[in-house]
Amino acid sequence: MTRQPTLIEMMQQLIAMPSVSCVNPALDQSNLPVIHLLANWLDGLGFNTEIMPVSTGKANLIATRGQGAGGLVLAGHTDTVPYDDNRWHHDPFKLTEANNRFYGLGTSDMKAFLAMAIEASLAFKPEDYKKPLIILATADEETTMDGAKTLVKLSRPKARFAIIGEPTGMKPIRMHKGILMESIRITGLAGHSSDPTLGHNALEAMHKVIGELLLWRDQLQQQNNNPLFEVPVPTINLGHIHGGDNPNRICGACELHIDIRPLPGMALDDLRHELKQRLQKVLPETGFKLETLPLFSGIPAVETAADSELVKTAEQLTGHRAGSVAFGTEAPYLNQMGMDTLVLGPGNIDQAHQPDEYIDADRIKPTVELLRKFIYQFCIA
Ligand SMILES: [Zn+2]
Repeated sequence: MTRQPTLIEMMQQLIAMPSVSCVNPALDQSNLPVIHLLANWLDGLGFNTEIMPVSTGKANLIATRGQGAGGLVLAGHTDTVPYDDNRWHHDPFKLTEANNRFYGLGTSDMKAFLAMAIEASLAFKPEDYKKPLIILATADEETTMDGAKTLVKLSRPKARFAIIGEPTGMKPIRMHKGILMESIRITGLAGHSSDPTLGHNALEAMHKVIGELLLWRDQLQQQNNNPLFEVPVPTINLGHIHGGDNPNRICGACELHIDIRPLPGMALDDLRHELKQRLQKVLPETGFKLETLPLFSGIPAVETAADSELVKTAEQLTGHRAGSVAFGTEAPYLNQMGMDTLVLGPGNIDQAHQPDEYIDADRIKPTVELLRKFIYQFCIA
């Protein structure tokens, strides 16, 4: 039997295995090597492991110790964002200790968390578990969320509570906004500028669309407010526009990209529906075609109840009130499966998706300690 690696060795091996996910197929990599590495370790520790295919070259891992209903999921995504070699001072794939930090791609966001979850589980013998502990490793969080969506489709794993170790600086997070990015395309009819009756000006139609969007934004902000968020209202950002080609040509087509950040309680499908309806209403009846298309599938907002046992426990163990963050996670998908879900991890979001991503060396031990306490409370006691 091979020796179980130490925590630092696990972190080294996870970081050394590239697992970039990217919407650009040229940069996208399989996460299977990471999944198999984790499965090997967890098999050796007596976990029951299941590799769940997600798509070609992509899979989730569900590793379970203990049986029965209830229990706790410790979850992390196995993919990282792409990296810019020229901007890194360290090798992104070599865990490097310097300045009391561990540098490497995926240290903070968030492969290292999976090593810490495994380490924490070692504090208890397999027979100690009254309820299951599930270590969950997912695919493609940084791009499509297809790993999390596959879990929802198959309704697995089942547990009562879940903690996702995304970088939150060790503070419990029970809420985040959703994210929608939509393209609005207006097709009119091009023609020479000297005679406006020859065409249908898509830029002028877009002017009406933008007016309606700003009006909708004001209304959404009047109707929805959650003071627990740093930006307490939903937002709509106009981020990109392109239309037409020449001053002396009637603009035949115009495209606008917007970003909508809804509060918990605002469903993505409802927003998409309302967007379409409102914009359709302001366009002239003839001569224009309007399309609204998602630029990605979107991330729902999430809110786990403030009085959930998991939230209360996390607040007590960390000494921090559970709050909100300004980024999306897999939490809404786990919530959807009936698990009260918190986001709580050792990294800092400032380091995520940045060159020289690192995790503070001082964070590692307290994180393992904290995870042990969660495991004790929800699986052992
Ligand atoms: Zn992440």
